[in-house]
Amino acid sequence: KKIVIAIDGYSSCGKSTTAKRVAAELGYAYIDTGAMYRAVTLYFLQNHVSFTNPKEISKALDSIDVAFNYNPKVKRNEVYLNGLNVEDEIRKMYISNQVSEVSVLVEVRRAMVAQQQKMGRKRGVVMDGRDIGTAVFPDAEVKIFMTADVDTRAKRRQQELLEKKQLVNLNEIKENLEKRDLIDSTRAESPLRRAEDAYLLDTSYMIIDEQVEFVLDKVAS
Ligand code: C5P
Repeated sequence: KKIVIAIDGYSSCGKSTTAKRVAAELGYAYIDTGAMYRAVTLYFLQNHVSFTNPKEISKALDSIDVAFNYNPKVKRNEVYLNGLNVEDEIRKMYISNQVSEVSVLVEVRRAMVAQQQKMGRKRGVVMDGRDIGTAVFPDAEVKIFMTADVDTRAKRRQQELLEKKQLVNLNEIKENLEKRDLIDSTRAESPLRRAEDAYLLDTSYMIIDEQVEFVLDKVAS
């Protein structure tokens, strides 16, 4: 029987790396919900949408199509905004610096959550984010809540950015992670928090293989 696996947690704990591997192992779809909020943020910035004007926000949301499409060049799904591949653009620091301010917007959350529920309705998905186990799929069969100490997370993120040829100062990354975690966990609408029935996974001293094992183990039990 196909299930929903919800992986939530703080920024840069290794959620997406773990989720991708788990999905591949099980032959499940992987959905990166953070990428959706990042794509919306890119649209808002490109089109100068005011974050405080509900009419502008609703109008913008009506004009946004966020989708995951298979890119044969890299043999994986990538994020598309209105038909354009934005996978690389949305990982840049200027998006990371604004995404949490866009993610607090109730209209944005309602639209994204509805789309995520639709994408997972046939189950057989691994979804990572901040509110999957609490708001998007409160009935997910397996829920994981990931955390790691902030210095470890900042170093990992720096390495990831470096692999994309982006040189970013460690302090800048750490500040961004702390700022996002604070906004994400204190917002009114579906804040980042551990669902009561989520397994806690601290990845500070773990390698990817161990994280993947942990999740697969919970799926099997
Ligand atoms: O996972 P990632 O770091 O790419 O997420 C970027 C941002 O998107 C988060 O810091 C958070 O503000 C927002 N987000 C969210 N709910 C989700 C996934 C991401 O609010 N389910």
